[in-house]
Amino acid sequence: MKRGAASLALLLACLPRPLAADTYPRQAGLDAIHYVFRLALHDDTDQITGEASVQLRFLGNGVRQVELDLASRAEGKGMTVTAVTSQDRPLAFKHASDRLSITLPEPSVAGRDFTVTIRYSGIPAGGLHIGKNHYGERTFFSENWPDKARQWLPMIDHPYDKATGELIVTAPAQYQVVANGLLLEETDLPGGQRRTHWRQAVPISSWLYAVGAARFAVHHAEPVNGIPLQSWVFPQNRDEVVAGFEGTARAALLFYAEQVGPYAYEKLANVQAAGMNGGTEHASSIFYGENSVTGRPIVGLVAHEIAHQWFGDSVTERDWDDVWLSEGFATYFTLLFIEHAQGRDAFVTGLKSSRERVLALELEHPDSPVIHRNLSDMKKVTNQLVYQKGAWTLHMLRRLIGDDAFWNGIREYYRRYRDQNASTDDFRQVMEQASGRDLGGFLRQWLQRSGVPRIEGTWRFDAERKRVEVTLLQEQAGEPFRLPIEIGLGSGPGATTRIESVEIHDHGATFAFPADGEPTSVVVDPGTWLLMEAGPFTKTQ
Ligand SMILES: [Zn+2]
Repeated sequence: MKRGAASLALLLACLPRPLAADTYPRQAGLDAIHYVFRLALHDDTDQITGEASVQLRFLGNGVRQVELDLASRAEGKGMTVTAVTSQDRPLAFKHASDRLSITLPEPSVAGRDFTVTIRYSGIPAGGLHIGKNHYGERTFFSENWPDKARQWLPMIDHPYDKATGELIVTAPAQYQVVANGLLLEETDLPGGQRRTHWRQAVPISSWLYAVGAARFAVHHAEPVNGIPLQSWVFPQNRDEVVAGFEGTARAALLFYAEQVGPYAYEKLANVQAAGMNGGTEHASSIFYGENSVTGRPIVGLVAHEIAHQWFGDSVTERDWDDVWLSEGFATYFTLLFIEHAQGRDAFVTGLKSSRERVLALELEHPDSPVIHRNLSDMKKVTNQLVYQKGAWTLHMLRRLIGDDAFWNGIREYYRRYRDQNASTDDFRQVMEQASGRDLGGFLRQWLQRSGVPRIEGTWRFDAERKRVEVTLLQEQAGEPFRLPIEIGLGSGPGATTRIESVEIHDHGATFAFPADGEPTSVVVDPGTWLLMEAGPFTKTQ
């Protein structure tokens, strides 16, 4: 849900103007509060029948029109709306170009709620996959990311307007149905049908609404901090739930709750899903591509999707331009979980491979900053730079302001924006308060500028003056970056035994460190704290 009208106005008055905004047409005068979706799924047809009740709250007077996203019919697929009513009174509507425009019977009054009910049916062209899993069994799995909820659900299909919701699904009784929130009802109906009712009492964005219907083996594990933990896999994979999901899910839930703040939702279900690869972080009901459940632990994927429950799901980007607040955070918090679970070496290995990815991606996507510039093509919402460079930005921020300020800031950011929306600017302000530093330049450099610094240089030992001299050069195109850099000096075989911190903000600089004898090694960034392309760094006379 959005904030109320008064606090929204105050907020807009005191924030600097947003630097960028995606092109979704927002409706400032209303707020979706609660959705109830009644859906019928069938075996003999892919056609779904839906009834959606949408509770709206008006934030201003004089609103005459409500716009919902819902796919129109094209080439035999899409949705046909048969009626729109409010308290059984028919309302005038127009459904074209994937928008359902509903005319209100009278102008809105600020603060009042209004519920519209939409009856519709059709074959989803996307958003809800209907088809066989790899065991040849019929399944139904939603995949709304990023803007496909509208393919089968009438919604305000953008992250900015969060709402609570219910999914009441009638399907052939051989299927079990999983969705967001808590299970309220399962009732066998005449004619071999079963009704399943789930209720999500915490507000979430449209892409996080999920339904899965299939033959499932469901395992209810010991709750974690009182949160029910469930695994839903195909019966053929029943023996794989503990290795695949439960161990990592339990450890990740405990770790993120301890480090960031309490888990926001009523349960956590990890669900094997057909029709997709990777995973999707639906609030409280995470879907994983069916091939990922193999009997081996899937640590990185499970930790990533569970990290999203805090970042992306609970604290959600207000604007698609800021999608790194979801994906960059989930990527970095996965690395932090891996450090916790597997140790520092595994963490550093992950950071280094992420850095290699960034360097390759900068070549693939030239002139692509992490924060999108007024994104209009939703196919471009997540390039891998958003994940990997976003994660590295958090890692460098942690070094810049120190562990204490970083974690205090992260906890405060979650506390303040839990179940709401946030922007990069909101995050900046929280981290500035936590650290007492101006972070505008740092975040602009890494998030709004493309490219990474290329660092090369030389070192020499001056025996007469008893010092080590290090010269560093920034060789990338464009303006120099402002970079804190660590130099590691070794006095024995192999490892760094002494670390010096310097800052470079020009194309080149030379630094000198007192030393009684010549070091056995001098290296740049021994602790893996800097996102850079490492050029040659050699010893000279
Ligand atoms: Zn993700």
